[in-house]
Amino acid sequence: MGGGPASRRSSDAVPRPGLMRSWWLREALAAEGDAPPARPLDHDVRAEVLVVGGGYTGLWTAYHLTELAPAVDVVVLEQDICGGGASGRNGGFVTGWWDELSRLVDLFGERGGVEVSRAAGRSVRAIGEFCQRHGIDAWYRRAGYLMVAAATAQEGAVDEAVAVARRRSVERELVPLSPEAIRARCNSPVFGRGALMRDGATVQPARLARGLRRVLLDRGVRIFEGTRVRGLRTGDPCVAQTPRGSVRARSSVLAVNAWGVAWPVLRRLTVARGSYMVLTEPIPDRLEQLGWTGGECITDLRTAVHYFRTTDDGRIAFGGGGASVGLGRRMGRTFTHDRAAVARTVEGFHRLFPDLADAALVEAWGGAVDVGPVHVPVFARAGRGRVFLAVGYTGNGVGPSELAGRILARRCLDVEDECTALPIASHRPRRYPPEPFRSVGGRIINAAVVRRDRQMEQRGRPGGVTDFLARLPSRVGYRLPPE
Ligand SMILES: Cc1cc2nc3c(=O)[nH]c(=O)nc-3n(C[C@H](O)[C@H](O)[C@H](O)COP(=O)(O)OP(=O)(O)OC[C@H]3O[C@@H](n4cnc5c(N)ncnc54)[C@H](O)[C@@H]3O)c2cc1C
Repeated sequence: MGGGPASRRSSDAVPRPGLMRSWWLREALAAEGDAPPARPLDHDVRAEVLVVGGGYTGLWTAYHLTELAPAVDVVVLEQDICGGGASGRNGGFVTGWWDELSRLVDLFGERGGVEVSRAAGRSVRAIGEFCQRHGIDAWYRRAGYLMVAAATAQEGAVDEAVAVARRRSVERELVPLSPEAIRARCNSPVFGRGALMRDGATVQPARLARGLRRVLLDRGVRIFEGTRVRGLRTGDPCVAQTPRGSVRARSSVLAVNAWGVAWPVLRRLTVARGSYMVLTEPIPDRLEQLGWTGGECITDLRTAVHYFRTTDDGRIAFGGGGASVGLGRRMGRTFTHDRAAVARTVEGFHRLFPDLADAALVEAWGGAVDVGPVHVPVFARAGRGRVFLAVGYTGNGVGPSELAGRILARRCLDVEDECTALPIASHRPRRYPPEPFRSVGGRIINAAVVRRDRQMEQRGRPGGVTDFLARLPSRVGYRLPPE
């Protein structure tokens, strides 16, 4: 246990990122008995629906396909193993969209915004029900999500979110809490006002992804791992080419998240940005001292947000957004090996939890987030064919990917219902500019956002140029924070 006085700063030993698998995924694979991956595709096959990508989006799509049509013939192609991407590396926050209500109302109108937020809330509960129904121990715990001002300059964002919920008569969804009430749940000396969203849960993210995979295999879905799709012809049928085989299918779903930067159809809908996490050793007694035993997941209100939660074995998993933006079509080491990003995350951990300076940080890992032009996912169809896609979760896809899977499955089967009638299902957002403006611009703006957050924490207001650059996207019509 990491008890005792703060004599040793764990930042002296910043954990090194770059392991291929996150701690979550290694834990989940070990719990499965380290079974070998599914075999790669080595021949030509036919299917009714092809899913490219074995993360939550692809796996939930396949799951809902089998819910809607139990006999449907589905093939999933994954270049790595299922859960090898963001779905096995994330913070495990399963959150609704009540904190996004202002943006959603802007996009979809008064009724539409509330309707979409309610649908996202249903997904938070549906994930728990899924785990229970299929006996998946994904550590699902619905203890709510706390958004907390960790600097005076962040308090305005809490007040604004709470006021927006009140104006739409959904004040029960985002309940304001005083600094004392916040600190009774998690005692950090820098926490000020905050709000509690009851549509909030945590999971062991990789166990969820692997649980989905297990259910799909049980249902007869053919999953090929270690199989990279090199090209997808969008005609009828769609044809996917892989190194040693092909899949012909009537419909196809492209669920490749930030790898979308390499696909012409997705490139103008996403920018890949890194996010990094660190993990403490088990410190259950220290969590008791903090009073953080209720299982709430918490974020501060920076733009490049800090997100943190506890684990079943008494650790803190702490993440920081705003790591580097990728250049062009490459998904390089910047998303997995960025030591400076880990050091910034560690710095954030120590600022928020100074009493834990001696708690050892034993793991670090990173992954890529697909930053979309409106901060919530975009659903689209590639050309006139039957290739459907969802991209742009912007670091908030654990809950919403369940909703995305529902919508995409219905698209593949030509089912129209209340899910496909949601305004988010047919929204057409503004696209990013072409290269090199997309990724170079993304880098400049991301650096300004990180600088602005720091200035707001340190001196309560941002510098003029930094503020101008950080707000530039919203000035030219994108709905990226800050607004
Ligand atoms: C560090 C980190 C922390 C995060 N924390 C949270 C959080 O706490 N809460 C939250 O809601 N969201 C969080 N997110 C975001 C969340 O993880 C994602 O929104 C979600 O996992 C998206 O699922 P996905 O299936 O779309 O993407 P992924 O899980 O990335 O799946 C895409 C899959 O496609 C595969 N693929 C790509 N190209 C090909 C190809 N050509 N052929 C075959 N396969 C291919 C990849 O290998 C990958 O497995 C976080 C993300 C990161 C990186």
